[in-house]
Amino acid sequence: MSTTASPETTPALTAADRCDACGAQGYVRVLMDAGELIFCAHHARKHAATIDQVATHVHDETSRLYEPEHEQA
Ligand SMILES: [Zn+2]
Repeated sequence: MSTTASPETTPALTAADRCDACGAQGYVRVLMDAGELIFCAHHARKHAATIDQVATHVHDETSRLYEPEHEQA
């Protein structure tokens, strides 16, 4: 039998994924019935309550922001 793709499995976010609200690099992918949205850490926090209501799955990579090697000039 083949393994079916789990909705929990989403591709990692890359530098090409931009926040749908401001265009900054996206760190949170929100999957909804209507489609998906990408948010930066700032907007993911700002819209957290709404995301909580509409999201079927949230792929959160904001922890990458706090990795030691991540440098923000
Ligand atoms: Zn943003």
